[in-house]
Amino acid sequence: MRDVVVVGGGPAGSRAAALLARGHDVLVLEEHGESGVPVQCAGLVTDDVVKLSGVDPDIITTLFGAEVVFPDGSALTVRSKVPKARTIDRRQMDSRMADAAMAAGAEYSYRERYVSHSTQGGVRVRTDIGEHGCRLLVGADGHTSAVSRSLGNTPREYIRGMQADVAMRMEDQELFRVRLGSENAPGFFTWEIPCGDYTRVGLCTSWSAGPPVDHLRRLLRRIGAEDRVIAMHSGKIPLGGIGRTVSDRCMLVGDAACQVKPVSGGGLYPGLTAAGILADVVDAALREDDLSERRLSRYAKGCDHAFGKELSRGYMLRRMLLRMDDGDLDAAGAYASREDVRSILDGIEIDRPSDVIGSLVRHPRAALAALPILMRCIF
Ligand SMILES: Cc1cc2nc3c(=O)[nH]c(=O)nc-3n(C[C@H](O)[C@H](O)[C@H](O)COP(=O)(O)OP(=O)(O)OC[C@H]3O[C@@H](n4cnc5c(N)ncnc54)[C@H](O)[C@@H]3O)c2cc1C
Repeated sequence: MRDVVVVGGGPAGSRAAALLARGHDVLVLEEHGESGVPVQCAGLVTDDVVKLSGVDPDIITTLFGAEVVFPDGSALTVRSKVPKARTIDRRQMDSRMADAAMAAGAEYSYRERYVSHSTQGGVRVRTDIGEHGCRLLVGADGHTSAVSRSLGNTPREYIRGMQADVAMRMEDQELFRVRLGSENAPGFFTWEIPCGDYTRVGLCTSWSAGPPVDHLRRLLRRIGAEDRVIAMHSGKIPLGGIGRTVSDRCMLVGDAACQVKPVSGGGLYPGLTAAGILADVVDAALREDDLSERRLSRYAKGCDHAFGKELSRGYMLRRMLLRMDDGDLDAAGAYASREDVRSILDGIEIDRPSDVIGSLVRHPRAALAALPILMRCIF
């Protein structure tokens, strides 16, 4: 019997596997023929994410800020003196992370799909080609997680994303562009990310807005990139949390656990942070031979401590943003262009965007000016 079976060879699964394989017998089941395909990511990460991945993905570009375009066409540039984000190739990062887990001793079974499991004394994992016995099951199977569904979970909300790599060079390689508004991306935003000779152009939309393909086509037309598409990717992002991330002999991590920042849709930072917490809790629980929900719930507490507040504040912020119509977004743009507010925005950390609220509160004049906008989107 294996110690741990991990379902999913994406970043969260591979990071958990790499850390656990140092002292335990770990098998990773991945339904695709390799890790990192199909790509469902803009590849925009902070240095913390690169560090947490445990590997060295090639850096394509280094970004110092963003240009935000509001529905009325006005633009605000937020630029820092220090790097804010890097662009990477997710396929390469995922593949390197799987290699690192294998080098640490984890075994990968590609083209094997988890179907169901039962827990009685141990775990019986059924797949499309056979069965495996293990002491603990980790669901790192992403936004479609069948393991999460088996625990009775459904994320509060999904958004849909679609992205095209286009053969077009952005003039400024240090800034990415974000467009807001119902015409551009209802319920979320668009992105144009410089990657040297090509640009990643994409967007996410609220579920209720339907498939985002027409919005992406319109955006590509607007920037003159309709005939320059090299590759297309699409995916879903779960937001707002799920019921539970642990049960007896079973744990969830990454998108499967809905560990995603609600304002940006970034899942790598919380997912990789959680993988580290999971590995510590599981290592001790395996040694003590106590894999009860009660013992494993230290993982849920650890995650809550590490990023729970950021995710719940972020979801509150998302609910507020959803109440804003295009006129409110334009008013927010005018407010954000004020000198005193811009200096606060320059300091935003991408992995902790909700800190900006705390910073605003510490600047009463700036906060006071935001009151009319806040009133409109809260009430
Ligand atoms: C359009 C888009 C852009 C994004 N951009 C960013 C970004 O720039 N920065 C960022 O931080 N985040 C971004 N995200 C989110 C990020 O991609 C995810 O949060 C991240 O991939 C989650 O990692 P994971 O390991 O939990 O899941 P995944 O990467 O989804 O990995 C899950 C793995 O499980 C496998 N699997 C699923 N079901 C089974 C099964 N039954 N049996 C076996 N294997 C299975 C899948 O094949 C997959 O390899 C973006 C998402 C989308 C959709």
